[in-house]
Amino acid sequence: MKTSIIACLFILFGITKANRPKIITMEKKNYYCEYCGKKFPDVRTLTSATCTYHPDGSNKGRHKLYEGTEKKEYTCKYCGKKFPSIMVMVGGQCVNHPNGMNKGRHAPAL
Ligand SMILES: [Zn+2]
Ligand SMILES: [Zn+2]
Repeated sequence: MKTSIIACLFILFGITKANRPKIITMEKKNYYCEYCGKKFPDVRTLTSATCTYHPDGSNKGRHKLYEGTEKKEYTCKYCGKKFPSIMVMVGGQCVNHPNGMNKGRHAPAL
């Protein structure tokens, strides 16, 4: 009798434990600029500052929020080349850029 109560408690405990990770995953998220790869703590800070890698020219516009998720590696949407971060990716010119070969930077796919 006693053992079955303990087993029952174990099952209940197991269920609540299984439900817990969903709450824990509310961890702090980082936001990245699609043009320069700079990291920001929130979207407001990101969109209120000018971007040195803006396609219209350096500081001619604001950072643009990269709407994809944080990844281990990022793929260029034009040429498919993989990079360890957006910052590394946008530092290079893309051979498949829509404006022409090496006429623009790599851009991260979502
Ligand atoms: Zn930027
Ligand atoms: Zn590319």
